[in-house]
Amino acid sequence: MRIAIIGAGPAAVGLVDTLARSGADGAAPDVVVFDPSPHSWRGRPYAPDLDSVLVNVPPAIMSVRHGDREHYASWLGERGAAHLDPLLGAPLVPRALYGEYLEQTAEKAMAAGNVRLVRARVVAVTGDLRIRTEDGREHEADRLVLCVGSGTPADLHGLDGTPGYVTDPYPLARTLADVRPEASVAIIGSRLTAVDVAVSLAARGHAGPISLVSRGGMLPHVWLRPDDHRPTRLTVEAVEALGADVTLASLRDLLRAELDGLGEDIGDLEADLRAAATEAPAARLRRQIETVGTHSQARRLLQDACHGVMASAWPLLPEADRATLRRHARLAVSLASPMVPVNAVRMLALYDSGQLDSLADVRSVRSVRSVRASEGGFIIETGGGTRHADVVVNAVNPPPGSVPRAAAELVGTLLREGLAARHPDGGILPSDPRVHVVGDLHGGRPFLTGGIPDVVGAAARTARALTRA
Ligand SMILES: Cc1cc2nc3c(=O)[nH]c(=O)nc-3n(C[C@H](O)[C@H](O)[C@H](O)COP(=O)(O)OP(=O)(O)OC[C@H]3O[C@@H](n4cnc5c(N)ncnc54)[C@H](O)[C@@H]3O)c2cc1C
Repeated sequence: MRIAIIGAGPAAVGLVDTLARSGADGAAPDVVVFDPSPHSWRGRPYAPDLDSVLVNVPPAIMSVRHGDREHYASWLGERGAAHLDPLLGAPLVPRALYGEYLEQTAEKAMAAGNVRLVRARVVAVTGDLRIRTEDGREHEADRLVLCVGSGTPADLHGLDGTPGYVTDPYPLARTLADVRPEASVAIIGSRLTAVDVAVSLAARGHAGPISLVSRGGMLPHVWLRPDDHRPTRLTVEAVEALGADVTLASLRDLLRAELDGLGEDIGDLEADLRAAATEAPAARLRRQIETVGTHSQARRLLQDACHGVMASAWPLLPEADRATLRRHARLAVSLASPMVPVNAVRMLALYDSGQLDSLADVRSVRSVRSVRASEGGFIIETGGGTRHADVVVNAVNPPPGSVPRAAAELVGTLLREGLAARHPDGGILPSDPRVHVVGDLHGGRPFLTGGIPDVVGAAARTARALTRA
C-alpha cells in the first residue's frame, strides 16, 4: 500500500515511527512524506533557534512514540542535566534540541521502513489520490494523511511589511536580531509565544521597555510539578459511560467526586479561576511560582482533563455547553497550556524590575507612518489610553482548525474533489475512507491547541487504521 503523508512535523514523525515498526514482519507500507521545510521533521515549533526558546512541557509527555513515555527521556539521557528546571524538577531543553530528537526518530524510521521524504509543498490532490507538488510533479497514493498543523500567525492589524513589525516571530534568532537593545517593544498576545518573545528579549540583554498587549491580559498558568497521581473518577472511561448525558455539570460532578476523594474543595479551585480575569498578572505569577510543588491535585486534574477528557467529551456536549466553554476560551487555554516555571521566574523578574508590563483591552495597533509620514514606530490604543512602541512583534497563533497558508490550495482541492468537508466550527473532516487528518486541522475538536501527546495519540490511531485497511 502506498501512503502519502503531507507535512513532516511531529504528527508525521509519530506516524512514520509507528508505521515503520508495524512492518517488522516484512509488510511495511510504502510511505512518502512531503514537506518543503529546510528543517524536515521539526514542524513549526522545533527548528533551530535561540537557546531561550524552550519546550513547554515536561519530558514524560514529550515522547513522540505513543505508549512509550520514556522514549524521549532516554534519547535525552545525561544531556537533560544541563537543562534542569529546578522548580519543575525535570529538564526543559531548547526546542531546537527537541527538534533533533524528532529528526533522529524519523531518520531511524526511514532507515528501518519504506519511508521517503520529498522536499516539496503539495498544492493539489485529485479524486484518485494523485498528489501534485509545487514543482508540477505528480505522485500516486492509495491513502492520504494530512499533517499540516495550523500554520503561522495571521496579520491581524494589517501591518505586514511595515518596518519594525514582525508578523511571525519564529525563529527568534532571526526576528529579534535587528531589534535595538533600547527599543520599546510591544508583543501582541499574552500566551506562550508572547512569553517566548519576552524571555528571549531578556536573554539577549534587551534594555528597553517590553509590553504584552492583548485583549484579556491573562498569562498562561504556571506548570505544577508533575506527580504520580492518576484520576479515578474524571476519566475518559467515565465520559464514555455517560455518553449522551455528558454536560458541563456532569463533568464538574466527576471533578468534584475526584476532589472529594482527596479531601480537596472544588470551591477553592473555582474561586482561584474566577480571580484569573481580574488579578494583576505579576501577583498571580508570583503566587503560582510559590506553589509549583503544591500537593493539591485540583489544577493538575483540570489541566489534564483539558486534553484527554475534553477531547472525548467535546463532541458529546450540548451546543449550549460548548458555547459556554468558548466564552471562557482564554481561561481554558491558559490552564491547558501553562508556562514552564523557569520562564515564569524570568517573566516575574521582568515585571518586578519594571521593564515588562501588561496592557489589556487592546483596540488597535497602527503604524505612526500612517498618520505622520516622516516618523516610525507604532501607536497602540487600549481601553486605558495610547502607548508608543518602536517595534511590534505579533505573537498570536492561529486557532486550531485554521488552514495554514501553505496548505490553502491543497485543502481547496480536497474540498472540491469531495475528499474532505469543512466542519462548521473550523477545520476539516475526511469524507473519503482513504483520507485522514491528524492534528489541529481536524474539525470537531475542542478549541485547545494539541500538544505532542495529542498529535502523537492521533497519529498512532491513524497508523492503526492504515495498517488494518
Ligand atoms: C510556537 C509553538 C510552540 C509549541 N511548543 C510545544 C511544546 O513545547 N510542547 C508541546 O507538546 N506542544 C507544543 N506546541 C504545540 C504544537 O502544535 C505541537 O507540538 C506540534 O508542533 C504539532 O505538530 P504537527 O505536525 O501537527 O504540526 P506542525 O508542527 O505545524 O507541522 C506541520 C508541517 O506541515 C508542513 N506543511 C504545511 N502545509 C504543507 C503543504 N501544503 N505541503 C507540504 N507540507 C506542508 C509545514 O511545513 C510543517 O512542517 C507548540 C506550538 C507552537 C505554535
